[in-house]
Amino acid sequence: MSSNKPAETPTPTSFPKSVPVVIVGAGPTGITAATLLAQYGVQCVVLERWEDVYPKPRAVHADDEVCRILARVGVYDEFAAVSRPALGLRLLDPKMRILAEFRRDPKNGLHGFPQANMFDQPELEALLRANLKNQPGVMLRADVEVTHVTQVDPGRVRVQFTDRASGAQHVIDAAYVLGCDGANSMVRTAIGATMTDLHFEQRWLVIDVDTDAPLRQWEGVHQVCDPLRAGTYMRVSETRYRWEFQLLGDETAANYQSVGDILPLISPWLAGTSAEQLTLVRVTDYTFRARLADRWRDRNVFILGDAAHLTPPFVGQGMAAGLRDAMNLAWKLAGVLSGSLPEAVLDTYQQERKPHARTMIYVAVSVGWAMTAGGRLGNHFRRALVPLLRRLPGTRAAAEGVTPALHKSALVIKSDGRRLAGALCPNPVLDSGIRLDDAIAKRFSLITSSSLSDQQRDEMARRGAVVISTAPGSQLDGWLQKAGVGAALVRPDGAVMRAGRDVNALCDAMPSFRDFSDG
Ligand SMILES: Cc1cc2nc3c(=O)[nH]c(=O)nc-3n(C[C@H](O)[C@H](O)[C@H](O)COP(=O)(O)OP(=O)(O)OC[C@H]3O[C@@H](n4cnc5c(N)ncnc54)[C@H](O)[C@@H]3O)c2cc1C
Repeated sequence: MSSNKPAETPTPTSFPKSVPVVIVGAGPTGITAATLLAQYGVQCVVLERWEDVYPKPRAVHADDEVCRILARVGVYDEFAAVSRPALGLRLLDPKMRILAEFRRDPKNGLHGFPQANMFDQPELEALLRANLKNQPGVMLRADVEVTHVTQVDPGRVRVQFTDRASGAQHVIDAAYVLGCDGANSMVRTAIGATMTDLHFEQRWLVIDVDTDAPLRQWEGVHQVCDPLRAGTYMRVSETRYRWEFQLLGDETAANYQSVGDILPLISPWLAGTSAEQLTLVRVTDYTFRARLADRWRDRNVFILGDAAHLTPPFVGQGMAAGLRDAMNLAWKLAGVLSGSLPEAVLDTYQQERKPHARTMIYVAVSVGWAMTAGGRLGNHFRRALVPLLRRLPGTRAAAEGVTPALHKSALVIKSDGRRLAGALCPNPVLDSGIRLDDAIAKRFSLITSSSLSDQQRDEMARRGAVVISTAPGSQLDGWLQKAGVGAALVRPDGAVMRAGRDVNALCDAMPSFRDFSDG
């Protein structure tokens, strides 16, 4: 199947008969995957049930790794204009005394962006969708319901869907299908995957409020640890605020439909602001769950985002995990479709992403238990125990604002430079004045403190890779030195594939990677 033919230009009711990739679901995961694939010249059709982005607020926090992905898809500047750097996360006791604080750098951290950013998910999704229109070769078809995903032949997946307005049935064949269809994923069911319960289920009230009044709180996420009623507060934008509270007994959102109803809950943060100054944007209840799909792939069908994992939102990492899935899989799929990478690399998607997602879910669950467990007696022990959260695997990484390295795979080789393999490389501004990610521009790269021979440079260019020679004393030089290596082979998603002292061995290990956008 060729994927570099011009796309058919469909009328609103016509669809191509076949396409390299069909993406089910136009949430943040699906749109990110489509954009990244399109940047590699891979044509795809995105099928979405609803006409427009889901309008209700959900995600409000994005870390700097997510910003790196947003920069890559081309919406970071617009995102920065509508988001707000935050100072980190505080765990508080019921009397609002600080139990632990995880600070975040509101300027440019390791990845070149503020480490914690508050935003409104519908605003981000609107940016992602508008940006998708700039990608030739992607067709987004809204108002359709995907009903069947069937692997009819080796390498051919049939996607059946219904036009919700006309009831017309349609079929598209694809080489690959990405199920980015959220928590109730039909693609997950179609590949026979099931969700493993990671044993966390709580009902919470989610309140979004607008006010021009300054609340003058610490500009980070406040998590109140209180088994009688745990709660979260955060400022999302200039005028938007989010509170979340654990629901008690048979309470539902119906009990909290007016400003008067919510005042007793939110008053500790109001600093004298009157009820008349508050506008209720939304009150709803959610059941926060921790779940992980047992498998993320069946032959040519993959699941990504909430379809593959569900986390309670206590550390703001649910959408982030979906964007990481898209970033991890897109370049591999592009390389396989162009014939430059072997099909076997697609196995590395689940090998690398599933343990990472599991760790981040456990981090969220740990924070959730710290906030809610133990009854009244627990309050006495929490002051001593909560600071120890930093020492748990994964939690420690999250406390420092760095997520864990990817699990080993054929594309994460943890031999000599094991400290770096699977971790994201830093993203500093280079001497040329541009950021590393922009210099690498979605290709493989060799970051090296040793000089290469002309022959090696030619070979790297022939394999489609970029060579970044580190300046002595630079951030990248310090990064290599700290790990005790002379060079790192970095993948198109910014993760280190392999690092070591022997630059010749790394040159030899450099994969040949080309995509359709290379012509
Ligand atoms: C209260 C709350 C707070 C949160 N806070 C954060 C946070 O701070 N940070 C963070 O990173 N995450 C957070 N999250 C999680 C985040 O909102 C989700 O993880 C994210 O929306 C998942 O994106 P997705 O694209 O995978 O799935 P979704 O956003 O659910 O998108 C799936 C899409 O698939 C479509 N679809 C489904 N089935 C079909 C079908 N059969 N045919 C056609 N289309 C279909 C749906 O209409 C939908 O548009 C929060 C969630 C909640 C509820």
